[in-house]
Amino acid sequence: PAADPCCFVIFGASGDLTSRLLLPALYNLAATGLLPERFAIVGVARSVRTADEFREDLLTALKGHATREVDPDLAQRLVAHVAYVSGSIDDGGTFLQLKAVLEELEATAGTDGNRLFYLAMPPDTFEPIARHLARASLSEEGPSGTPWRRVVVEKPFGTDLASARALNQALLEVLVEDQIYRIDHYLGKETVQNILLLRFANGLFEPIWNRDHIDHVQITVAETVNVGRRGRFYDRTGALRDMVPNHLFQLLALIAMEPPARFEAERVRNAKAEALAAIRIPSEAEALANSVRGQYRAGRVNDEAVVAYRDAEHVAPGSTTETYAALRLEIDNWRWAGVPFYLRTGKALTARRTEVAIKFKQAPISMFEQTSVDRLGQNFLVLRIQPNEGITLRFNAKVPGPVLAAESVDMTFKYKDHFDVAPSTGYETLIYDCMTGDALHFQRADGVEAGWAIVQPFLDAWAKAGARGLEYYPAGSSGPEEAGFLLARDGRRWRIIE
Ligand code: NAP
Repeated sequence: PAADPCCFVIFGASGDLTSRLLLPALYNLAATGLLPERFAIVGVARSVRTADEFREDLLTALKGHATREVDPDLAQRLVAHVAYVSGSIDDGGTFLQLKAVLEELEATAGTDGNRLFYLAMPPDTFEPIARHLARASLSEEGPSGTPWRRVVVEKPFGTDLASARALNQALLEVLVEDQIYRIDHYLGKETVQNILLLRFANGLFEPIWNRDHIDHVQITVAETVNVGRRGRFYDRTGALRDMVPNHLFQLLALIAMEPPARFEAERVRNAKAEALAAIRIPSEAEALANSVRGQYRAGRVNDEAVVAYRDAEHVAPGSTTETYAALRLEIDNWRWAGVPFYLRTGKALTARRTEVAIKFKQAPISMFEQTSVDRLGQNFLVLRIQPNEGITLRFNAKVPGPVLAAESVDMTFKYKDHFDVAPSTGYETLIYDCMTGDALHFQRADGVEAGWAIVQPFLDAWAKAGARGLEYYPAGSSGPEEAGFLLARDGRRWRIIE
């Protein structure tokens, strides 16, 4: 069913996110009948333009970035009700102007006063925007049944535990938690959402989803891209902050959470927050002993030369920022006690791959020890998030022939073989959820803070260590060799990224 009539207010309307992802996503929703008929878009940014010029910009963005063929009629209907406010978010006047524009547009478009404020803006603007919205009475909600007002916040939600707490606190002074939608676009991916279905819609997995049967879990987010032109942002961020408390922890939480009694936002988010809160927070010394950080040197990725991170644009020459991070974490609860979770992420690696690999325990007795079977492979369940989304079960099979031998084989399900998946931006589901008020796939304040609390000792320990302990890897490799020791000392090894 189509979402409620509403006005979609984009702060940062001239930015990259708006043109590359938000517009194409709105179009895809319109094309599948999920966007309400009564719908309006308001853009806010400092650059000056008229509503008509803004409408043209939106259509141009759509032409350039749509994931499906654009039907001109539908595109026109999408931008039928458009307004634009030119002004800085530092200026209260911008919000008064916005208020006047909104009231007028709402009357013509018939959007019932429902407003979705999408903050496609730099993170230091989230708090001032939220305050201004409240001061201008733009975001206040009445009792249920009256118009809704929701605010979508893009990541990053803070840069450490203290700033995440401060941001949450500031937002919660002027909004209630139910109005805040913290987007982590990873949670919009079908394969990520499918983890819940795989676990809880199949009787097969749940009985073995625990320390009795699982040896360890590996979560990998490997990128081939290098820092590119994002040096200014990345050099003060690093791989750990950029990827771990959000994307990797979201995957971890979905794997580790307890089954919620019902598939509804609060229960699922409670279960995820509980799982994160059960991760043991290490001391700084333990953090150093259970992590590896790396930085890429010059090399080749996909046959293209990559300059060393330190030589990249806007990166400090002697930078000690990590472009690779690997952690070993433990979860102190009954399900997971003694089952390590190994996480790794990095840039300029040999292949792009996001996956969760669950390694099952070996058969309790090897009856093949006295035979010619020299090696038994390991049982893995691999959830492939991207690319080639799918699920693979790796097990041992007998090699045909009179001599007894075993080999690891894969049983693989690929999404594209089975489902007709329309190309999408990954934002469709999330935007639709905001419009229908389903917060299940959004992060709640406590979950965000639980994530930062775990990462904080690693950040602190690494900051103190500086260049000490920073390992180097050539661009185009699978990361620093030292990351292998993290598992090797437990008698395990990483799956090969290829
Ligand atoms: P961007 O291209 O730099 O766009 C920023 C937008 O904010 C521009 O429209 C800019 O317009 C506006 N703006 C900046 N300061 C302003 C001010 N004081 N008052 C009013 N408007 C102002 O950034 P982006 O890449 O779209 O990213 C936006 C947010 O999304 C960030 O939080 C980012 O982390 C997040 N994000 C982006 C992507 C992506 O793929 N781009 C993906 C995930 C998350 P004017 O200069 O005209 O004011």
